[in-house]
Amino acid sequence: MAKSKKTALQEKDGISISEITSNNAIEKLKKKRSTKIDVDTLIAAILSKDITALSRAITLIESKNPKHLEKANRIIKACLPHADKSVRIGITGVPGVGKSTFIETFGKHLTGMGKRIAVLAIDPSSSLTKGSILGDKTRMEALVRDKNAYIRPSASGDSLGGVARKTRETITLCEAAGFDVIIIETVGVGQSETTVHSMVDFFLLLKLAGAGDELQGIKRGIIEMADAIAINKADGDNLKAAKLAKTEFARALHLYPEKASDWQPKVTICSAVENKGIDTIWDIISDYVDTTTKNNYFRAKRNEQNKYWLVQTIEAQLKSDFFNQPKIKKELKKQLELIENNETTPFAAADYLLKLNN
Ligand code: GDP
Repeated sequence: MAKSKKTALQEKDGISISEITSNNAIEKLKKKRSTKIDVDTLIAAILSKDITALSRAITLIESKNPKHLEKANRIIKACLPHADKSVRIGITGVPGVGKSTFIETFGKHLTGMGKRIAVLAIDPSSSLTKGSILGDKTRMEALVRDKNAYIRPSASGDSLGGVARKTRETITLCEAAGFDVIIIETVGVGQSETTVHSMVDFFLLLKLAGAGDELQGIKRGIIEMADAIAINKADGDNLKAAKLAKTEFARALHLYPEKASDWQPKVTICSAVENKGIDTIWDIISDYVDTTTKNNYFRAKRNEQNKYWLVQTIEAQLKSDFFNQPKIKKELKKQLELIENNETTPFAAADYLLKLNN
């Protein structure tokens, strides 16, 4: 046992923590409550599935302090070889569709199967509204108490890109901490669904049955992204309408072009409150993972996502480096005034500012 732990720790690139046993790390961590914690201790504790350590590392990722970010980067690097092993599921749907109720029932179903699950969120509005999703402590009460579940509210940030980067990195840490399933929840604010889609293996859209108008008012792109649509609240008087909606969605989905994954998106009904059809959704996801693992799409998609995130990160970094230069800040202000007075064009101003760069 001790031997295998040592081997696992040694795999990590450039970090000499082979001396630290997991228990040791957790003990150290407990002693150093709020003061300085050394990165190696934190890494060892994360790898031995310690939730306190995981939370602290995520806090470092979310920090604006450059010293914290430097630590966060070292932790992420050390965690990377141990990540990549979970199933990442994105869940979206309008407010009130039952996302948190669903995640709670679904999450309990998974922990009941012996899985460890992490629930994260991408909520770009959270910095303004103090969290429209996952911020409310009364949500997912049973799951919060489940020792095999970890729930982390959305990072706040001034841009979707910022929140997204933090969530991407949090996924890596959660995987290194041994979570089997990572659920990422989002509401349909702006581009947040596209962002979640770009970091998950499976994208689940929760819908409600309406009065025959199921296909109206849905952003086409979201249907296209969905690997499954679950019509929630299929209970009581609503059951009939839900079944009807299922037929309509299934028919509509056939009109979309076939996916590169060779996966035909599924439509199903469920009741998060009555715990009905929840097992079917996990069966669909397992089936998806099997199918796409066999045809190599699963791996290929993750590779594509990694490349996409590389480019995204560079773009974000260049942008922030550019706008944070004092001379650019000063000159930008002047150019904006010139534009206001119609004394230059946006393109001439941009050209001027870009040439000032470096
Ligand atoms: P969210 O805003 O998407 O996270 O939705 P919530 O999970 O907060 O649910 C909104 C409301 O719908 C709550 O009052 C839930 O109790 C209710 N709800 C959620 N799932 C179901 C369901 O399967 N059946 C019924 N009848 N109500 C549900």
